[in-house]
Amino acid sequence: ERLNNDFQFLDVSREGPKKVKASVRKKQFAEIYEPFPKENACEQAHRCLDCGNPYCSWKCPVHNHIPDWLQLVSEGNIIQAAELSHQTNSLPEVCGRVCPQDRLCEGACTLNDGFGAVTIGSVEKYITDTAFAMGWRPDLSDVPKTDKKVAIIGAGPAGLAAADVLVRNGVTPVVFDRNPEIGGLLTFGIPEFKLEKNVMSRRREIFTDMGVEFRLETEVGKDISVQDLIDQYDAVFLGMGTYTYMKGGFPGEDLEGVYDALPYLISNVNHCLGFEKDPSEYISMKGKQVVVLGGGDTAMDCNRTSIRQEAKRVTCAYRRDEANMPGSKREVENAREEGVKFLFNRQPVEVVGENGKVSGVKVVTTQMGEPDENGRQRAEVVPGSEEVLEADAVLVAFGFRPSPAPWFADFGIDLHEDGRVIAPEKPQLGRQPFQTSNDKVFAGGDMVRGSDLVVTAIWEGRKAAEGIMDYLKV
Ligand code: FAD
Ligand code: SF4
Repeated sequence: ERLNNDFQFLDVSREGPKKVKASVRKKQFAEIYEPFPKENACEQAHRCLDCGNPYCSWKCPVHNHIPDWLQLVSEGNIIQAAELSHQTNSLPEVCGRVCPQDRLCEGACTLNDGFGAVTIGSVEKYITDTAFAMGWRPDLSDVPKTDKKVAIIGAGPAGLAAADVLVRNGVTPVVFDRNPEIGGLLTFGIPEFKLEKNVMSRRREIFTDMGVEFRLETEVGKDISVQDLIDQYDAVFLGMGTYTYMKGGFPGEDLEGVYDALPYLISNVNHCLGFEKDPSEYISMKGKQVVVLGGGDTAMDCNRTSIRQEAKRVTCAYRRDEANMPGSKREVENAREEGVKFLFNRQPVEVVGENGKVSGVKVVTTQMGEPDENGRQRAEVVPGSEEVLEADAVLVAFGFRPSPAPWFADFGIDLHEDGRVIAPEKPQLGRQPFQTSNDKVFAGGDMVRGSDLVVTAIWEGRKAAEGIMDYLKV
């Protein structure tokens, strides 16, 4: 009866999958959400109003057919839902876990109007995880193979999405990555409490079965030459990410005990996964008073990793207020539940130390002023508000700037002034989407748009693959 209830949203309130208790999860590097039980997934999916012109799909960067797969789930049709969901998304189980849904699909749900959005992300994760557990695999047996081969540099979400679309159209993708596992930042960045690493190793097996070739632990430009790739392949896709860490530009950043966020997170992943080459690479916050600087996803991941490493205290200082934080609201809430203390409107001006070692962070208080050119309120310093936060470790999470490879110029790959590769989504007549100034080379993801999201990298990889196919006339 419930399945025919047009007013399910009145009878059933929004409810996500259960979270592991904070006291338990803060000791584990494991996902914090339990799997959605089938009944709940059906019931929640059926809350969808099936709006005539679904705004959720529009706001989803890959334009998932959300109401359609929600309906299939509410009918118990998981395999069909998985087929449909893979028509638009190359890694739906990843997006279901890590997208900031509150500002994408779920933020656009009509039911936000007092009823609570449909739990779109959790259902998306449920579809793929359940279909895989049922033995479903993408079926490419009907795809006629072409003789075309494309080299993909980078096995992050952009590269994987490009490989997915190419292989589904009979083009052989060969993916090169310097890391020992696929995923890019999904594996060597985002911690296990958001995304367990077996999700990516399962994907590697599935992509391999689909016909994608991986050459891991191979750095292009060092272990294999770029010229060889250009000569031996019909096209090349670059999905190399952004890896220059932003600095605060204040005194004391070089003191012992101050770490950039990403090397810190990577050292933890390597430690947990056994990829560590030398135990001295591991950075542990055990017993330390940690101050994390920043307010994005990376800062939240540093906060929650420090908690799990048994830091004595973790304080996150951010220069704007909570409403202006760039990170996902869900992760801020999760961090708070796990014991992170937030200090909003605090701008660091100096890392202070004794005998070359950090002892604290000098901050000033800010207040929110007029919006800047991006529409975000400026943080204005309150005079005379200096204070020192005690710390014996500081994690700097101010984001990333582009890291163009030195060989781009040799191959005529042009850059924007800030170092991003020029590869427009909407190109001039006669050019393909995401084609660089070298006709044979395409690019997408963080290296083109600047550091952003998993789902936007997937979108760019998929669109670039379509551009490559037009260029190759397949
Ligand atoms: P990447 O994921 O960076 O992948 C690039 C790959 O290219 C890497 O594997 C690298 O090894 C490889 N590579 C580069 N150069 C070479 C070379 N010369 N030879 C061989 N291989 C090479 N986004 C979200 O949506 N939700 C989140 O919760 C979230 N959390 C994040 C947390 C952290 C700590 C960080 C750092 C980012 C987070 N992001 C999140 C952002 C997201 O991870 C990125 O936007 C996304 O991974 C970008 O994808 P990409 O494919 O462009 O690049
Ligand atoms: Fe929402 Fe992300 Fe899934 Fe799109 S891909 S439906 S934005 S969770």
